[in-house]
Amino acid sequence: MTDTTIPQPKSGVMDIAMYVPGKSKVPAGVTLHKLSSNESPIGPSPDAVAAVADATSKMEDYPDGSSTELRDAIAEVHGLNSDNIICGNGSDEILSLLANTYLSGGDEAIFTEHGFLVYRIATLAAGATPVVVKEQDCKADVDAILEAVTPKTKLVFLANPNNPTGTYLPIEEIRRLHAGLPSNVVLVIDAAYAEYVRRNDYESGIEMVSSNSNVIMTRTFSKIYGLAALRIGWAYGPRHMIDALNRVRGPFNVNAAAIAAGTAAMKDKAHLEKSIVHNDEWLVKVTDALEALGLKVTPSVGNFVLVHFPETKGKTAAEADAYLTKHGFVLRAVTGYGFPNALRMTIGSAEANLGTLEHLKAFFETGNA
Ligand SMILES: *Cc1c(COP(=O)(O)O)cnc(C)c1O
Repeated sequence: MTDTTIPQPKSGVMDIAMYVPGKSKVPAGVTLHKLSSNESPIGPSPDAVAAVADATSKMEDYPDGSSTELRDAIAEVHGLNSDNIICGNGSDEILSLLANTYLSGGDEAIFTEHGFLVYRIATLAAGATPVVVKEQDCKADVDAILEAVTPKTKLVFLANPNNPTGTYLPIEEIRRLHAGLPSNVVLVIDAAYAEYVRRNDYESGIEMVSSNSNVIMTRTFSKIYGLAALRIGWAYGPRHMIDALNRVRGPFNVNAAAIAAGTAAMKDKAHLEKSIVHNDEWLVKVTDALEALGLKVTPSVGNFVLVHFPETKGKTAAEADAYLTKHGFVLRAVTGYGFPNALRMTIGSAEANLGTLEHLKAFFETGNA
């Protein structure tokens, strides 16, 4: 029975499983190598660090509520119109804004079974109903998504590439998905890992946004730009959608340090290139080495890999996780994403990658010691 003598959250809120961030605790005296949140081993551009230092000298002033400087920098680098861009306190905020703007009670939002957890949280918090569809081999299934559409569907969330699987859909598949959706359904393409992808048949979604009135693409500075702590995300969408989102967002949703850092980071293309080169090299090395240990790795185009463990007692993901953590190597348990016997490993520094591989080898050889 609901206790009517105390305030009760609206329907849906208590169905939200609180988001559990990647761990960062290891035993005292052990060096932490955090590979649990897809953060950049290269870190931010030095220009962004300098820009933050400068911004902190004027903390008594409100930031520019429209993030104009940052939107202009993004627009210039990506060849977009800055009027079609909105910035947010991380792309998580933009995903929530989308849910709050387009979903009411009774509406449905579709996402896939191993999709990013924030989609579920944002949908429930908006009072709407999550509709979860099956994937094929850890990959979004366009036909399954289209079959799940009902008159109540208002929004489809799709991460491309997806976290935690690391898989992606070629742009032709995204076009097919869009073509099958009613024109009043918003297609959200979450391209948080777009910069890492090296595939000729991949596109982040810019072109799809430009030529349609119901597609929006979200991006982040938390991953390849190494600015997760400052919380900076952005979206590129049709003018009518950006206008609606701007009405719902907080008036000063991006802080001054974030605006300054994001602007500087966006302009430092050499630093971005450095991060791409590092990931290209280590994504392959880490994948190969994990497979050489006999583990199944879902082919990834991002800055992380999903590693599947044997069911044999003494060799499971949970046991490997405990062993690695004891030695300072923290990966991400992904039970909440529907993978009870897998770990997600971020591509880290050479030292962190090699250390993880060495300890995994020892774990399988010597057992859970
Ligand atoms: C990390 C991540 C984000 C980024 O979130 P921020 O709020 O910008 O830090 C968005 N989508 C996916 C799929 C992610 O993995």
